[in-house]
This record gives sequence, C-alpha cells and structure tokens, in this order.
Amino acid sequence: MIRITKLSEPKYLADRKEAWTKEYLAANDEQKRKLQGRYNHEHIKAQLELETSKKCAYCESWIMHIDYGDIEHIAPKNSFPEKIYDWANLTLACSVCNTNKGAYWSDTASLLNPYTDNIEAQIEARGPWLSYIPGQERGKISLLKLALNRPELLERRRERLEKLQPLVDAYVNASAEIKEILKPQLEEELNSNREYIATVRPYLTSYIT
Ligand SMILES: [Zn+2]
Repeated sequence: MIRITKLSEPKYLADRKEAWTKEYLAANDEQKRKLQGRYNHEHIKAQLELETSKKCAYCESWIMHIDYGDIEHIAPKNSFPEKIYDWANLTLACSVCNTNKGAYWSDTASLLNPYTDNIEAQIEARGPWLSYIPGQERGKISLLKLALNRPELLERRRERLEKLQPLVDAYVNASAEIKEILKPQLEEELNSNREYIATVRPYLTSYIT
C-alpha cells in the first residue's frame, strides 16, 4: 500500500451524486440493490483507473489486465450508505483485497486509507515482506485483514526485487558518467504506475545516490 493522490471528481458523478444519494437513502433493500451499481460507470471508473494507475489501492497489483477491478468503498457502503456515491470514498481494488476486506469497519481500528493516512508511518517493507511498525494498530489490522503478505503477493514482490538486482548492481559499480545514464532507469522503477512501490522504494533508495 502506498499513498495515493485523489484526482478531481468526474463531472458525471458530481452532477448526479446528490440526487442519487437521496434516492438511495430512501430506498428499501431490494431497490438499494438495483441502485447501488450506479457508481460503476465508465466515466467514474476511468478517473479511478487514472489515479490508481490501474493498480489495487491496497496490494498494488496491476489488475485491469486480469480482472475488471472492483470499485471499492473505503468506508463500506453498508455502514455508510450516505457515502455510496461520495467521490472521496471510492477507489479501485482487486477482487482478492475486496473480498478480504468485506464489510469490515471499526471506529477505533479502521483499515488504513491510502488517500488520507501516512502509510509509511504504519507499514514498512522488509524485502518482499510487509511489516507493521510495532504499536501501529491500524497498520497491523490492514496487513492482516487484507492479507497483504499472502503467498502470491510475496512471490510477485520477490520477483520484482530480483529483476531489479542486475540494474542495481550495474549502477553501484558504474563510473559517475554511467551512473548519470542509469539513474533515470532506476527512478522510473519508482514511478507510481509500477507495481509494489512500497517494496521497491526502500530497496532502490538505499542505493541511488
Ligand atoms: Zn489487491
């Protein structure tokens, strides 16, 4: 998980959310089920794909090439129906994280919000392993509830580090002139559109000088 910057609200949503929310809150359960998919519109999803770089907001896996990607309510819609069309409450998640999170909510130990919380103060990468910083309850609950150290993710993050090693090796042993050429390549690996930045950042920044 890394910090994500919220982009501007799509006009399609801004123009409709007030009426939609009013209608949703007044609806019975059956009507609610029909109405709730309204946020799943191409204009809304396109903006979420842009701001998340088509990665799961929680596990940082690229999702759009293997999955449609679920529009995710950071504060769950069952507990916060008034936020069902709230732009600040919407993101993109892979189906595994989405399922793991379920309808979880706690007033005292909510999951970390990638848009508003200081993620690095709660979670740190130790190689492919993500660790909560001792005493950081919300980091702990986020790692456990979302299973951010599930075997498939550990393997993908390990592969990502392994692929970077030759580039790091070349950089560390290069002359100053060659370092100038290689540095942008290393920095590109930290672009937010790449996978598993939380894992890659501490590794690369310890070598880039
Ligand atoms: Zn995920």
